[in-house]
Amino acid sequence: MSRTPCEACEELLQGYLDRALTDSEVGRAESHLDACDYCRRRYRFEESLRKYVQTTAAERMPVGLMEKLAQLRSSP
Ligand SMILES: [Zn+2]
Repeated sequence: MSRTPCEACEELLQGYLDRALTDSEVGRAESHLDACDYCRRRYRFEESLRKYVQTTAAERMPVGLMEKLAQLRSSP
């Protein structure tokens, strides 16, 4: 039993959010987001989190928390 229903596509979603995918991978990510409720919700959450971090939190967030988030994103 895996930790999340969709662990396999985590990597794809991260790349999608980072705009780090090839065209064919983007296609795969988008069709997966179409088909998968879990990832669609996760993607929306991650995207709004990023916007929030970019717009409001960058100056107000404690440095330690920023580093924690960066570690989370770069963990395998
Ligand atoms: Zn999924």
